[in-house]
Amino acid sequence: MLWIAAMIIALIGAPLVAIGSIGIAARGTALPLALAGALACLAPVTAVAVFARRSRRIGAAALVMNLAVAVFLTTYGSSPLPRPAPLGGPLPPASPPATMALFQLPTGVIHRTAAFGYRGGAFSDRRDFAMTAALVKHPRGDLLIDTGLGRDIATQLPLMPAAFRALTDLDRGRPAADQLDAAGHDRTRLRGILLTHAHWDHVSGTADFPGVPVLITADERRFVDQGGWITAIARSVAGARYEVYDFEAGPYLGFPRSHDVFGDGSVVVVPAPGHTPGSVIVFVALPDRRRFAFVGDLAWQREGITEREERPWPMRRSADDDPAQVRDSLLRMAAVAERFPQITLVPAHDVRGFAGLPRL
Ligand SMILES: [Zn+2]
Ligand SMILES: [Zn+2]
Repeated sequence: MLWIAAMIIALIGAPLVAIGSIGIAARGTALPLALAGALACLAPVTAVAVFARRSRRIGAAALVMNLAVAVFLTTYGSSPLPRPAPLGGPLPPASPPATMALFQLPTGVIHRTAAFGYRGGAFSDRRDFAMTAALVKHPRGDLLIDTGLGRDIATQLPLMPAAFRALTDLDRGRPAADQLDAAGHDRTRLRGILLTHAHWDHVSGTADFPGVPVLITADERRFVDQGGWITAIARSVAGARYEVYDFEAGPYLGFPRSHDVFGDGSVVVVPAPGHTPGSVIVFVALPDRRRFAFVGDLAWQREGITEREERPWPMRRSADDDPAQVRDSLLRMAAVAERFPQITLVPAHDVRGFAGLPRL
């Protein structure tokens, strides 16, 4: 009887560690990993015990599984990408109008850990992942950069897989539309919603702005239709008015093409594919000379760019459409950050990036 119990522990301990590691990275809940870890420590011992008794095959399987999980766990470890070639040239000129302004619209947080965000991040480093939109006030029409969580998030979330919801500890705040209404913002001033990409947490609030154009690249528009569960919430927004734009202008800060939204250099969009096929970075220049780079989910936390650390393997596999392209975009942005440290990096889910921006 004892060896049967040992065999079961040997077999389930290792996979539990793998699952537990994702759970603790995503939710910061230590208990499952601690339990799984205890089982996994027992696993090699019990595997040897099983070996010595009668079932060599099971003993060998348990040992192999433990080895595989050990390799799996190393994918959370720090592994900086090689330093990119230095970026040349000056900061591109911009003439933002004097009345232009930028605000943050926090719509909630997800409780996660640094280990979820980038390789080398600690499991014990709890971080609230921002679900924050930004409002650009511009005399030629205001822009929302992403929308964060909208009024309908409770009815939208069931469109996501159960496993995803189980790993997502969401704290809802005030939807962007409510914040604009409370501040007396004139909706007719909204030129559009400029998406960094079409994932659920960026498009949820588009439903609250009927008739407002959703500015999107052709690649991302296709991804909305063909992206499976990961763009289900975007597809659920009935009557979304997509407006596809091109990158008609030349290179910008090392990115091959660009789109100057107002023609004054104040809001310039560049392609940064990988996380999704049509992901973009939005560069914003303010009249007080401050500059921002809204990098969307190119990195979930700023260390992704400043330390050139990708997402850990399980997160890359599940969240990124093309990890090799993410790497390329990440290195282009890392070169920008190194050359122009005065540009504030604003990963969509890093609260530190928004810290210098006023609320409405
Ligand atoms: Zn995303
Ligand atoms: Zn996101």
